[in-house]
Parts: sequence; structure tokens; C-alpha cells
Amino acid sequence: MKIAFYEVTEGWQVDYLKQRLPGHEALFFSESLSDITPPLADAEVISTFTNSPITDKVLAQAGSLKFVTTRTTGFDHIDLKACQDKGVLVSNVPFYGENTVAEYTFALILSLVRKIYPSVKRIKEEGRFNFENLRGMDLKGKTIGVIGTGHIGQHVVRMAKGFAMNVIAYDPYPNEKFAQEQGFAYTSLEELLKASDVVTLHVPYMPATHHLINKDNINLLKKGSVLINTARGGLVDTSSLLYALKSGILAGAALDVLEEEGFIKDEINLLTEGHPGEEQLKTVLADHELIYMDNVIITPHNAFNTAEALERILDTTADNIKAFAAGSPVNLVKAK
Ligand code: NAD
Repeated sequence: MKIAFYEVTEGWQVDYLKQRLPGHEALFFSESLSDITPPLADAEVISTFTNSPITDKVLAQAGSLKFVTTRTTGFDHIDLKACQDKGVLVSNVPFYGENTVAEYTFALILSLVRKIYPSVKRIKEEGRFNFENLRGMDLKGKTIGVIGTGHIGQHVVRMAKGFAMNVIAYDPYPNEKFAQEQGFAYTSLEELLKASDVVTLHVPYMPATHHLINKDNINLLKKGSVLINTARGGLVDTSSLLYALKSGILAGAALDVLEEEGFIKDEINLLTEGHPGEEQLKTVLADHELIYMDNVIITPHNAFNTAEALERILDTTADNIKAFAAGSPVNLVKAK
């Protein structure tokens, strides 16, 4: 089959995909599929990405197209209805980074509670080899409150058990079977905030979860607890977070995402586009004061970014194409 890959910007990805698709004619374009780069008219498969929308117009130009496979989880850049009307099937990458983000969550938790950043700074920047003011907290026996027990949250639960932590969780759709297997209980959000030494967020951002942590519930947090956010910035009201840090309710926070990032739909955008409005973000960060606080760690939306997670995206894409070619497509998405 003739397959056109758009927005493949790193050379290793070309070799990686070619190896996994023997017998197919794969063509790679670093450009996105747009008015300037019309689709390859005789391609039977298009592998698209966030900046390569599949529209009516693209479909009209891609006369041989039978299958679209996007190298993303989200598929809002694809007109599913138009594809359906033309008999073009569409697949996505439903997940790729659940353990990846959970591992990063623990990297942040440990960095925060064991003061790794100031410890490294002590030596590298201050040239002093002492542990004054660097005392941390054990994780063993402490309570971790996991908000959202989906793909990532479940890995966090398992990892927390490995540290001999007590786990409690909040999720409007509790997975009781998993809770039983892992030996933890679901509570209300309020109970979770009151009881947890570490609170970690793993829920999607949507109207119902906007400012899930807010001025009305921030006071419920256990004094001296820490908050970890690797999900989406908009889940936490930044001014309430600042208040909790300044008033000593929170001993610290580790954030891989910021509220102003709300417009970033998919982690993978960051690889091709960088952070939009970088200067603007810096200003907002400064405004928020968070960046200057010793007990706050901020990282640049990096939790998903491992070689293995990126390889999983390409593996799933190659599998999607092979399954389609074999007549039994997988990971299909349909118009609702
Ligand atoms: P998932 O869909 O598998 O799980 C989400 C869970 O949240 C589900 O169990 C759902 O029931 C629960 N939920 C929904 N509404 C809730 C609410 N109001 N309160 C509590 N729980 C609620 O998603 P996932 O794969 O575990 O990912 C979680 C989030 O992590 C993603 O939505 C994404 O925003 C974020 N993420 C961040 C990075 C990064 O690089 N920082 C990478 C991947 C994902």
C-alpha cells in the first residue's frame, strides 16, 4: 500500500516506521498537510498529525484514500463525518504514556519531599557540601490521594504501593475491582484532601473539572501536604494554590502543567510547535510568583516525553496500518 506520513520531523522516525512496514511504500513529509501541501492523490493511507487536518477538501483531493491513522490520541483535527461519508476509516493512538507520566509523577514527588533540586543546587551553584535545611519526609506510611484512577492514576496507585504508602482515591467513576486488587478505598474529594500527605491529579481538563482545586476546598488540604499536578493546569485555581503555599497549608507543589497552558490539546504538539507564546507564559509565570518559590518545582510539560513513549506512538501507528492492510482494522474512531 502507498502510505503518506505527514509532519514527520525527526529522521529516526522515518527509519523506525520503514522497518515496521516492510512491503509497503511509505513516503514521508516533514510538512503538514495543508493548502500548500495537498495530499498525495494516490495514497491509500494517510498518517496525519495535529497540524494536518483531514477536511472535506483533503478528502476530495485524495482520490485513493481508504484509511487515516493519526499519531495522536485526540482526533479533533479529523472530520470524522466527512471520512465516514466517503468510506474512509480512521484510527488513533488511544494511549501511549500511562506509565511514563506516572513515573514522572513520582520523580516530582520524590524531588519535592526529598528536596532534590535545592540539594543539587547546593553543590553545583553554591559549592557547599552540607545538608543544612535539606531534611525531607519519608513516603513509607504516608497517605497519597490519587484524584482520577484512569490509565495514569492506576499506575500511580501501583507505584505508591511499592513505596508502602496508604492509598486513597477519588473518581466519579470508581473502579472497585481495581481498588480491591490493590487494597485501597475510594473517598469523596473532600475526605481525600483532608487525609492526604500527597495529593496528585490525574483527571482530564473539561468544564466539570475546571478549578477542581479551588478557593472553596483548598482549606481542606492537610497542613504540610504537597500537591502534584501532571494533568492540566486548569484543574487548579492558581491564586488559591498561591494562597495555600504562602499560608503554609501546602508545604510544596510540583507542577508539570500551568493554567495558561489550557490551549495545548495534545502533548505531542509540543514536539513540533514548541510552547506557544513562550514570552507571554514567562510573564504570566512571573506574575504567579510560583517560579520564585523555593518549595515549588515547575517543569515544562515534560511528563510524556520519553523515547519509549514516542516509540509506542509509532508502534501503534504501524500496527494500525498493518491491521487495516490485513482487513481487520483496530483502534477505530467514529463520528458520534
Ligand atoms: P483517563 O481518561 O484514562 O483517566 C481519567 C480518569 O479521570 C478517569 O478514571 C475518569 O473517571 C476520571 N475523572 C473524570 N472526571 C473526574 C473528576 N471530576 N474528578 C476525578 N476524576 C475524574 O486519562 P489518563 O490517560 O489517566 O490521563 C489523565 C490526564 O493526564 C489526561 O487527561 C491529560 O490531561 C494528562 N496527561 C498529561 C501528560 C503530560 O505530559 N503532563 C501526558 C499525558 C496525559
